[in-house]
Amino acid sequence: MSVREIKKHSAVSHQLSASAVYYEMKKKIQPIKDSFNRRIDYLRVSITDKCNLKCVYCMPSKGLKFFKESEVMTDEEIVRFVRIARKHGLRKVRITGGEPLVRKNIIQLVSSLKETGIRDLSLTTNGILLSGLAGDLKQAGLDRVNISLDTMDAAIYREITKQGDIEQVWESVREAEKVKLTPVKINVVPIRGLNDSEISSFASLTFNNNYHIRFIEFMPANCSGVWAKDKCVTSDEILQQISGLGNLERLTFKGRGPSRNFRFKGAAGVIGIISPLSDHFCGYCNRLRLTADGKIRPCLFSKKEIDIKTPMRNGASDDEMEKLFIKAVKIKPQQHLLNEDPASGGHLKTMSKIGG
Ligand code: SAM
Ligand code: SF4
Repeated sequence: MSVREIKKHSAVSHQLSASAVYYEMKKKIQPIKDSFNRRIDYLRVSITDKCNLKCVYCMPSKGLKFFKESEVMTDEEIVRFVRIARKHGLRKVRITGGEPLVRKNIIQLVSSLKETGIRDLSLTTNGILLSGLAGDLKQAGLDRVNISLDTMDAAIYREITKQGDIEQVWESVREAEKVKLTPVKINVVPIRGLNDSEISSFASLTFNNNYHIRFIEFMPANCSGVWAKDKCVTSDEILQQISGLGNLERLTFKGRGPSRNFRFKGAAGVIGIISPLSDHFCGYCNRLRLTADGKIRPCLFSKKEIDIKTPMRNGASDDEMEKLFIKAVKIKPQQHLLNEDPASGGHLKTMSKIGG
């Protein structure tokens, strides 16, 4: 399908998605609850394990094997699964990876996902390819983006990503704002001795820009031996570093999710702190993950996975797939133990394989 045809199709699908939301409201479909009474209405979908960067905290420097194309979920399979989950109150989908923008036909996939009636469709990207795609993604129905940027220094950026050009990322930030993929959220993983001296500079960006700067604690993963507990800058340290910059106000809790949000008095943007290690947020967790090779992961830090691709390819009916979705919700663990024992995350595959 050409971009023009996709745009035409998207206009129709937006009407469809609006009526799907209306239908959902009318039928009062409530999100499914897990065994600990948490509402599960959010799915993070990794659509590829490939990436055009090689960030030191995410991937091992060598020896990483990628999935074969036949192992990766097709567009149709992903959209079918989302449609099934929608019947149980799924409202938010985040597309991630690997780098989602290296996947072929990404615009068409976004359009098809929006057509399922998902209210909040977002995407996490490293921003290298976004500037050229932002307008089409918006037209196809994407609501928002998170852009990962851990430093403002071009040399450190290359050291972290191995091959990235920071100017392309800033261009993407500007383009995302222009086409209203907003609020633009910027994900920053502070690592001691690498980029932790820039925490205040990132926080200061919020004074004049409506960015959401999200500091994410460095988590253990299969990432070329870079991870060590003392390299993780905790959320308390982050708050301490930025508290002298202005009058930091805690924002009232909106929705559920892992981020504790703050704003400097009078500032345009927001600061979010995500602390999976020092203060886990499992009590509010509302999400499942779908890996690029078709496994539902109820918790990022648990080994438990449910294969949905094989049954789908073996001809499972929608009812059978629905049962697998419900099973994944029900086996979601109460919490992970990373803050008590960071080594318990040692079994994690690379973040690029499960979508971070
Ligand atoms: N390629 C996209 C990107 O970089 O935004 C999406 C995939 S990436 C795996 C998703 C998020 O995971 C990014 O914001 C990245 O910073 C984060 N991430 C990767 N490895 C991490 C780690 N070890 N600890 C904390 N966050 C990590
Ligand atoms: Fe690629 Fe994102 Fe992982 Fe960096 S964090 S290597 S951009 S998947």
